[in-house]
Amino acid sequence: MICPFCRHDDSRVVDSRQVEDGTQIRRRRECPQCGSRFSTQETALLNIIKRSGATEPFSREKVVAGVRKACQGRPVNDDDLALLAQRVEESLRLTGQAEIEAQEVGMAILAPLRELDEVAYLRYASVYRNFNSLEDFEGEIALLRAVPSSSTDSSVTKNAISTAQKN
Ligand SMILES: [Zn+2]
Repeated sequence: MICPFCRHDDSRVVDSRQVEDGTQIRRRRECPQCGSRFSTQETALLNIIKRSGATEPFSREKVVAGVRKACQGRPVNDDDLALLAQRVEESLRLTGQAEIEAQEVGMAILAPLRELDEVAYLRYASVYRNFNSLEDFEGEIALLRAVPSSSTDSSVTKNAISTAQKN
């Protein structure tokens, strides 16, 4: 890496340590030309593209804040929510993309939230997917009954949707 002080085209790593549970690495570097020291940070990119077009780093806290309301009065504790946010982050990182649309984050929340608590899931889905009639709830509940939560991969869900629509 180029020295930010004298623009020398190389620098030496003098210290390297993991921070934030190993999701970031900080390196202390030294320029062999001018002797200046500086720090760099390496982190796997995961940015969220908001509806406005602006981007911001993915935040587990925001995922938790987003589902906490739906979990009010339900047997869901902070550890459950932290684990859910972790699973959402993992599934988003699995896509391999550095930038992800905000609505995809909402989609990624649905499956783990359903496994956590079906009532909280219904509440969240009703807001997130704009349920505006009893039929929307009935359709979703029929789906919940038709598809066990252990098999929430998209192909199974799609089959269940087409079955539900035929009936
Ligand atoms: Zn330098």
